[in-house]
This record gives sequence, C-alpha cells and structure tokens, in this order.
Amino acid sequence: MKAVDALERAARANVLLVVCDYDGTIAPLVDDPAAARPEAGAIASLVTLAEMPATVAAILSGRSLDALATLTGSPPGVHLIGSHGAEMTSAAGEPPPESLITARGRFEQLAAQYPGSLVEIKPMGVAFHYRGVPADSQATAGVAAESAAAAFTDLRMIHGKHVVEVMIEASGKGEAIRDLRRRWGADIVVFFGDDVTDEDGFAVLHAADVGVKVGSGPTRAQLRVADTTTVTELLENLAAARSGP
Ligand SMILES: [Mg+2]
Repeated sequence: MKAVDALERAARANVLLVVCDYDGTIAPLVDDPAAARPEAGAIASLVTLAEMPATVAAILSGRSLDALATLTGSPPGVHLIGSHGAEMTSAAGEPPPESLITARGRFEQLAAQYPGSLVEIKPMGVAFHYRGVPADSQATAGVAAESAAAAFTDLRMIHGKHVVEVMIEASGKGEAIRDLRRRWGADIVVFFGDDVTDEDGFAVLHAADVGVKVGSGPTRAQLRVADTTTVTELLENLAAARSGP
C-alpha cells in the first residue's frame, strides 16, 4: 500500500492520533542541532489536525521539552513530548497521572511535618529535599519520605543525597504512544519517525495504524518515505482528507 492511500484510510478514524518525531522527520537534519528548523507546512498541518474534532496531534522527540518548545514554537493545540516520552506537556493541559498528584500531596504533608524540608514540583515528578532539616530529625525525614514514596508502585523512586524523588516511568517512544492512545481513546494511530528510537514506536502500532519510516535503514514500519518534504506533503494530505467532504 502507498503511504498516501494508508493515510486516506486513517483519516476516517473515529478518533485519530497523529504522532511525529521531530529531527529528521518534520525538521531536516542539520549539523548544529540548535539550528534544526521545522518544515512550516508540517507544523501548520499538525495545528490544523489538532483543531479538528476527535483528532490529536503530537510531536514526540528525544529532545528536552524546553528545546522542543523553542524549536517548534509550541504550535497551538499540538502536544509536545520530550525526552522520548519522559517529559509530557500539552497545550490541552491534561493533568499528570493521579498517582503523581497524590505523591505531591504526600510530600507536601511531610514538608509541613519536617521544617527545613522543601518540595520541588517537576513536570513529570516530585522531589522532597531534606538537606535543610535539623540534624536530629534529618535521617527520620529521609526514611519517612522513602517509605511514602515506596507506596507509589507505578512511579520510579530515586533516593539521592538528601532528596527523595518519584517520577513517571517512561521507557521510550513506544510507551509514550501507548499512553497517548489510551488517554485519548484513539482507534487509529499514525506515527512518523526516522531513527532507531522511533522503532519502539513502530513496535507498538496495531494493524489498523500507520507507521511511516523516513529515510533508509531497517524498520518495523510498514511504509517508508524519502525525506521531511514528503512527510510534510503527507501531513497536508492527511489534514485535507480528515477535513474533507
Ligand atoms: Mg528523528
């Protein structure tokens, strides 16, 4: 099947999720990573898709969320996911998982209990710092935080130097795509990627989904295109087909 045909079929999804890697997929590869500019047409199409009902658009990159936001200009409605899925944000402002919210509350209780400690809220985690707790109760504070953190079995805990942190487990782009699919109830996922880390994403696609590999190299994706220009054209086609009569 040709990519354009597969995407026309995908455009008829009840709930469509479109996910694009950034570098090498919607932004041509350049020597200076800070200079990697996106294809304007690709961004515009993602914004158009994101505005449509029952349509979710996301950019999923190994870059930090900050870098991704700067490079893409944080296109309205398009979810940005950094660090291969470890950092998720979104224009739609969906809440962090409930366990993380509960963990934040738990750490805040501990901070009230142990003067001198403080809670650091992170996008995908929360840290309890107890370096400032008086020496006679410092060790107790650490033990209390560790035992509080251990209750959140779906979060990863790290006990560092006077800091106990819990964070969301993210094991790559596959997990990120699974999470997005679940969260939005998508029945068809379209995923574009060019690199080895994108193979995790292709690996979790279902038969009805569309995986498009950009450029050469072995892949599990069922379709392949040459370059970012072609990806841009396909995104434009997809947006047109989804809005179409
Ligand atoms: Mg890439």
